[in-house]
Amino acid sequence: MPTIQLLVVQPTPFCNIDCRYCYLPNRTSKAVVARETLQNLFSQVFASEWLGGGLSVVWHAGEPMVLPIGFYRDAFALVEALRPPELQVVHSFQTNGTLIDDNWCRFFAEAQINLGVSIDGPQHFHDRNRVTRSGRGTFERTIAGIRLLRRHGVPFHVISVLTPQSMAAAREMFDFYIAEGIEQVCFNVEESEGDHISESFREADAEALYYRFLGKFWQLWTAAPGKIRFVREIETALQQVIRPKEAPFYNQLIEPFAIISMDWAGNIATFSPELLGLKNPVYEDFILGNINRDALVDLADSPVLVRMLADIKVGVTMCREQCEYFSVCGGGEPVNKLAENGTFASTETSYCRITKMRATDLVLDALDRIPPEGFDAAAIARVTGV
Ligand code: SF4
Repeated sequence: MPTIQLLVVQPTPFCNIDCRYCYLPNRTSKAVVARETLQNLFSQVFASEWLGGGLSVVWHAGEPMVLPIGFYRDAFALVEALRPPELQVVHSFQTNGTLIDDNWCRFFAEAQINLGVSIDGPQHFHDRNRVTRSGRGTFERTIAGIRLLRRHGVPFHVISVLTPQSMAAAREMFDFYIAEGIEQVCFNVEESEGDHISESFREADAEALYYRFLGKFWQLWTAAPGKIRFVREIETALQQVIRPKEAPFYNQLIEPFAIISMDWAGNIATFSPELLGLKNPVYEDFILGNINRDALVDLADSPVLVRMLADIKVGVTMCREQCEYFSVCGGGEPVNKLAENGTFASTETSYCRITKMRATDLVLDALDRIPPEGFDAAAIARVTGV
């Protein structure tokens, strides 16, 4: 029986800006999810027996803040009314930050939203890609939003998409986060997804660039304790490498229904959230069914799911047999395999070489510097600073 861990809900596909690396195909559409669709989704999820103790709901796949606060007040009240009392539900937003104002800050605090703001570092890096439809940079508006969040004491993390230029500037990136009081940082590399071909992946030495960037950033981070509290890529790599032998690696991206994604029209997909909205005739656009028409639990027998799962499993088996990083990866991300290799039934991608292999190497290389006689928690903390 699956366990749902993450629900990605597209309140609207619309985005008020037009990032150059965006893969979302319908971002000019102003469609909005209907209340009835949300009711069908949450009532079926809550009745499904596929739940653990908690559920994370991410309002994403478009810019969530283009809808009024009242939309989310109603939606959250609906979720509350339907939620089983023992289930903890956490709502998350990933936003471009350009629409943050005092009212939104008060709402984020009141609703205890887990908030992520996308900002790619200092203005000259950010404005290369994160632009309006007329091509103007959005840095000024995003940083104004971040400063307002800080003034209101609203906790948030940032996600920065790295490019070859910013990867060559670890110190500048680090100084930027410190100067802006940004305490929690996540890095993404620009990926090839859908029709978008990554500029970073064309760089011959992208893997070395990423390794050097993360290594330098780690060094700066440990040399200035207390300034940045969390760097996702380093913490994740550490947790995956330093874990009890008996703890299996769980890859939710390859488990059916561990992640459920729903678009504004009620179409349901699973595995990598980015699949929803992409076109693919072989897998019928990755859509398992529609929550307004189908019973959620019946989607487990959907022919599309059976076909996708079979191919994903072949890819995971190939990874298990061929890749020495399998124990810290669990077979990677289906969406990247499809985008880069043309099939789920495959192994390595530029994406996994950069984000998984090189990040793991960095941690292993750091641990190698600890002499065997000093290999304990304190020694690990001294090297890693974490
Ligand atoms: S690192 Fe890449 S090749 Fe290795 S297990 Fe993960 S996805 Fe497969």
